[in-house]
Amino acid sequence: RKGTVIITGASSGLGLATAKALAETGEWHVIMACRNFLKAEKAAKSVGITKENYSVMHLDLASLESVRQFADTFRRSGRPLDALVCNAAVYLPTAKDPTYTAEGFELSVGTNHLGHFLLARLLLDDLKQSDYPYKRLIIVGSITGNTNTLAGNVPPKANLGDLRGLAGGLNGIQSSAMIDGGDFDGAKAYKDSKVCNMLTMQEFHRRYHEETGITFASLYPGCIATTGLFREHIPLFRLLFPPFQKYITKGYVSEEEAGGRLAQVVSDPSLTKSGVYWSWNKNSESFENQLSKEASDAEKARKLWEVSEKLVGLA
Ligand code: NDP
Repeated sequence: RKGTVIITGASSGLGLATAKALAETGEWHVIMACRNFLKAEKAAKSVGITKENYSVMHLDLASLESVRQFADTFRRSGRPLDALVCNAAVYLPTAKDPTYTAEGFELSVGTNHLGHFLLARLLLDDLKQSDYPYKRLIIVGSITGNTNTLAGNVPPKANLGDLRGLAGGLNGIQSSAMIDGGDFDGAKAYKDSKVCNMLTMQEFHRRYHEETGITFASLYPGCIATTGLFREHIPLFRLLFPPFQKYITKGYVSEEEAGGRLAQVVSDPSLTKSGVYWSWNKNSESFENQLSKEASDAEKARKLWEVSEKLVGLA
């Protein structure tokens, strides 16, 4: 049978390119989990994904209620779940003040981390029940949260501190809107959220890999300088960033190439190792990359898991 994969944020950029790559194999039915139904339908058509290979289901990660509804709707569809890709993200590098999710969490961490955390926890049982030869839960990471890299050392650097802002509710009222309790910085909030994504993947691996056989993985797909992720950035940055990445850092990848990489992590029979953060070298070969000290801190991952459980109402 065909595999079923859910991809969040499949209406643009990496998510869309991955949906296309998987749908084209004819071996996958792609559930595009998107906040804007019409945009997702148009996006699927624009890249030529054929009708029988996808469906769009509404998911707004900035609302935990919507995440719960999505999980219910998916279950009612009667489809098995063979792979879940947590890909959607917002990046608000020029925001002066924090904005918030429906439940009042700072928007970048609320969407990129907490929304996905609840989604992945709710759908874990469905993945467990899959009889597909391999089943995978993938959370897209990034180099920018990894302070052991050049890109990760561009200030403001990711730092979760002792999680006091998150533990306080991340709402800018009783607590700071930043995980570490500091002043709001949109670029840092994004990087922090990506560290959370990578820590969550590893904590899933420690808690559930042996028992369930599910492969948990994260990846850095390369710098896809042309996606909508940079839509909130200043115009000069948007103009210069793609050529800078292409010709100076040489970290640039096209959306198509990056989509192929993520599709590989979903479906390549050889990438079954769990707990891995994948990256690609200049010849586009995948390798197991090292995470920074903070992004591989098992104690922090456990604490993040427990605090996140409370915030999303699982504990
Ligand atoms: P895009 O902005 O193109 O795509 C982000 C997607 O997330 C969009 O489909 C967007 O929906 C969706 N999204 C945002 N908020 C929500 C929400 N509340 N609920 C549901 N969906 C939402 O960016 P990219 O494709 O570049 O980013 C995809 C992933 O890749 C992210 O995890 C990012 O961190 C990661 N990444 C990107 C890199 C890059 O260089 N671009 C490098 C490393 C990692 P909509 O279409 O409605 O706006």
